[in-house]
Formats: sequence, structure tokens, C-alpha cells
Amino acid sequence: MNFQSFIPPRRILMGPGPSDISPEVLASLSRPVIGHLDPLFVGMMDEVKTLLQYAFQTKNEFTIALSAPGSAGMEACFVNLVEAGDKVIVCRNGVFGDRMIQNVTRIGAEAIVVDSPWGRAVEVDKVEQALIANPDAKFLAFVHAETSTGAVSDAKALCALAQEHNCLSIVDAVTSLGGIELRVDEWGIDAIYSGSQKCLSCVPGLSPISFSEKAVNVIKERKTQIQSWFLDQSLVMGYWSGKGKRSYHHTAPVNSLYGLHESLIQLQNEGIENRWARHQTQHETLAKGLKKLGIEFIVPEEERLPQLNAIYIPKGADDVKVRDYLLNHYNLEIGAGLGDFAGKAWRIGIMGYAARSENVALCLTALEDALN
Ligand code: PLP
Repeated sequence: MNFQSFIPPRRILMGPGPSDISPEVLASLSRPVIGHLDPLFVGMMDEVKTLLQYAFQTKNEFTIALSAPGSAGMEACFVNLVEAGDKVIVCRNGVFGDRMIQNVTRIGAEAIVVDSPWGRAVEVDKVEQALIANPDAKFLAFVHAETSTGAVSDAKALCALAQEHNCLSIVDAVTSLGGIELRVDEWGIDAIYSGSQKCLSCVPGLSPISFSEKAVNVIKERKTQIQSWFLDQSLVMGYWSGKGKRSYHHTAPVNSLYGLHESLIQLQNEGIENRWARHQTQHETLAKGLKKLGIEFIVPEEERLPQLNAIYIPKGADDVKVRDYLLNHYNLEIGAGLGDFAGKAWRIGIMGYAARSENVALCLTALEDALN
């Protein structure tokens, strides 16, 4: 067979991720590959650490990008911190909270599940009750921005509760990092992971993570060996730590890290608070336009994520046909519903570089056309 080079079309990515990436990030990916232990590359990795500390708003020394997607960041947090027999309070209000439970049980730890309705924030009162009823719990885990439903949870309040009850917090920030307010040090978050492909607007496949000193100590004092070799952060740290003492752990995805470096420079140049505000402004314009089209949001206004707009599919509209129409006529991707919302909802992402007026306008025009 005569295979041809794969030349993808230029889509406008307004789904749940990956999001659009800027021309500068795209250009950075085609720069020459250099050795992953080349002193120049090592210097760039140090800069990535510093830029990630800014993105997470933390001084945590242990702040790196895992060479794997957000799911690996999730798994890294659980396998490094949690041991068999530990009790973990896990909040579930969508697909990704459910994945956290699976991580906990696979370790042989006990998950105390706090369920909140899908499409709503995690119920802080319920979490407090669970913490009171389980004084031996060691961790509280929750998803800050539930991509499957478009709901934001009160990470600040939940982390404060965790501290009050001597639990370490494990936070999923895959969709929140760079999109909405997130302050790791101020809120006292202990372990957090994200993804490169959402509001950071980089290529998929990297997972920024950050561990507090308390979390690092928990890893150091483990009684049992971490069952995953690749995700064992005590080994990975040797690879990412200070100049001159790098030891080989795995071969870093060199060009993807160029991309992350570039996207984090763009974040820093814009300013994190300006970036949060931009997402909110674009969301408000989108929400107004959707209202005019008679389209309803799943999540109540005060619990809505600006960067992930989950809406009910209007009566009479065909889920797949409309999404195909947008893709084929406008090169525009929006997301399908996930989990409980499969076939009932669409998810419109305005993440990072995609959170721009022209995209919001195009999305509204295209939707109006597709629905008529
Ligand atoms: N957690 C949340 C909230 C997500 O939205 C996602 C991906 O969409 C993940 C975890 C998993 O990330 P990845 O697909 O990069 O493995």
C-alpha cells in the first residue's frame, strides 16, 4: 500500500480538549530535537519548573511536568501518596471523580465516596460530614473543574476542610489550571495534577504536577514500595532536580516540552489573572448568545466553569448530525456529552488560545445555522 503523509485539517477546537494552540507554540514544536540531557535542554526544563510554579501559584520545589497525559498525573498522585489500607475521602460529581475512586481501590485503599449530583459543585457540607464520620481518613480528593459536567467546585473551602481534619488534599486541576482562579499555596493544596492540552493550550501528553512539602514527606515515609516504577516520583525527581545532578530516568518528550515552555511563557506574559478574566469574559458573551438561541446550561450560573460550557441539546436536534455539520461546514469541533450526559449534552470549550471573541462569534453563528 502506498501511504501518504498525514496532513490534518486546521480545525477550531472548542470541545473539552485538546484546545487550539497558538502559532508560536505550534512553531516551537518543529525546532530541532536535542538530547534530553543536553545542558541547554536541562536549562529549559528548569525554566519550565519555574513557569509551572507561576501557573500553579506555588513555591513548591516539587513542581514538574510528567511525560504522560493528565490521567498519569492523577495516577501519580494516588500511587505515590496512598498506601493499601489507607482511607481516602473521594468526591464524585462526574466522570473524573469516579476515576479517582478507581485509582484508590486499585491500590487496595478504602474510598469513602461523597456523591453530589452531576452538573453541580461538590457539596462542601456533605464532605465535612464525611470527614467528621471518618477521623482516620488520610486524604481528601476532588476534581476542581469537572470537565464531564462543566461544574466548578470550591477548592479553597474543600482544602481548608482537609487541613482542619488533618487530611492531605489531592486536587484534579486538568481543566482548571490557567482557566480559573487556582492558588496552590494560598489554598493549602497538597497534591495537584493537570494536563497540557486544556487552558495551557499546548499539545496533549504532558501532565504538570505539584506536591507540597507535606506530600513529599508522606512519600519519603511510605512503608511500602510504590507499585509503579514509571510513576514513582522519588525516581522522577532525580531527573527533574537542580542543575548538574540530573540522572537518566526516561527519555523526555523533548519537542512537547518546547511547546509547554512556549505556552507557559505566553501565560506569564499575559498574566495569570488576566488569563482567568479572559475566560470569564468570553464565557459571558457565549452564554448571552446561547440564551438568544434558546439553549440552556446544565449547571446553575454560580457553579459554571467559564472554560467548559455544558449545554442541553435542544429538543429535536440530532446530537451527531449537528456536531458533524459543525465539523464539515465550519471545521469547528464541539464536544459530545460524557457519562450520564451522553446524548443529552454538548460541551463547548473556550480554553486558552481558543478563548477569543472570533471563536465565540463563529461558534454561535455555526450553531444557529446547524440548528435551522
Ligand atoms: N481529569 C479531568 C478533569 C479531565 O478533564 C481529564 C481529561 O479530559 C483527565 C482528568 C484526564 O486527562 P488526559 O485525557 O490528559 O489523560
